[in-house]
Amino acid sequence: MRAFKLVSATDSAQAVALLAEHGPGVKVLAGGTDLLVDLKAAPEAPAVVLDISRAADMKGIAATDAGLRIGALVTHGELTRSPLVRELAPVLAEAARTIGAVQTRNLGTLGGNLVSGVPSMDSGPALIALEARVTVAGPRGTRTLGLAEFFVGPRRTALAPDELLVDVVVPAASLGKPAGFLKSGLRKGQALALVNVAAALWIDPDRGAFRAPRIALGAVAPTVIRAPRAEAYLEGRAVTAEAMAEAGRIAATEARPIGDFRASADYRRELVAVLTRRALAAACDRAEGAQ
Ligand SMILES: Cc1cc2nc3c(=O)[nH]c(=O)nc-3n(C[C@H](O)[C@H](O)[C@H](O)COP(=O)(O)OP(=O)(O)OC[C@H]3O[C@@H](n4cnc5c(N)ncnc54)[C@H](O)[C@@H]3O)c2cc1C
Repeated sequence: MRAFKLVSATDSAQAVALLAEHGPGVKVLAGGTDLLVDLKAAPEAPAVVLDISRAADMKGIAATDAGLRIGALVTHGELTRSPLVRELAPVLAEAARTIGAVQTRNLGTLGGNLVSGVPSMDSGPALIALEARVTVAGPRGTRTLGLAEFFVGPRRTALAPDELLVDVVVPAASLGKPAGFLKSGLRKGQALALVNVAAALWIDPDRGAFRAPRIALGAVAPTVIRAPRAEAYLEGRAVTAEAMAEAGRIAATEARPIGDFRASADYRRELVAVLTRRALAAACDRAEGAQ
């Protein structure tokens, strides 16, 4: 790796100022699990690396009026251990637990995972199923947007070069919403997803029917996507195994996977059908457990 100048920030405002000062050539460093791999392979070092790992206001997990606020610097390990996450949005802890090995989970941050924009990321589907929003800070102030809109293409997000991802908020309306996450890789551990799926839903207790079902698919399109036709099929429909299987089949038609050396497009579509059905069933089990 070639030499570069390292600057560091103790909060997001200072980080934004340093980004503006050093211009578009600056690279942001959080846990470094993606960035350092990229820098080692890159033909040229960036002029400046901005270390944000000590930015205090980008850390921590807190329940607020708006929902569950998770700082961008929260690591996957912290997500798996957090009592608040496990109580209010346990599907996030489940997804985080599947990421890499313990060393990667202890360094890698939620923000870094989302900004990487890799379609197979494991935190995206769970957060999109819970309709999470992100806060972005830049020289023009802060703005919030839905996580689904944050992803704009493979390895591309809505972040401008002078902006930082500050936090993720799981809205209050989604807290406690029963959800399930499933991932299939080539191995049981340390494997990127061939396909990952998250589903979240309420069950109308009077009618025994799906309410506000949300399904998010990873690794089968240029970004993590929702499966709106499968969601519309389930809305108001009685909770049955056949309905969940049919929703899985519909979700498979909404996926746009590529085939590569790890799996064919057809196999990935089949995985979407199976994992969607199982993620819905896991969410229903959780809903029944909560009653
Ligand atoms: C061995 C190994 C196994 C892995 N397994 C998995 C896996 O199973 N599932 C999975 O999803 N991922 C996996 N990853 C990927 C990686 O661990 C995650 O993407 C990680 O969360 C990235 O976070 P980080 O803090 O290390 O980011 P960094 O490497 O520091 O940064 C990543 C990118 O995001 C930018 N960035 C970081 N934070 C911010 C911010 N707050 N605002 C603006 N830009 C920012 C950086 O500039 C850089 O471009 C694996 C990685 C390794 C090395």
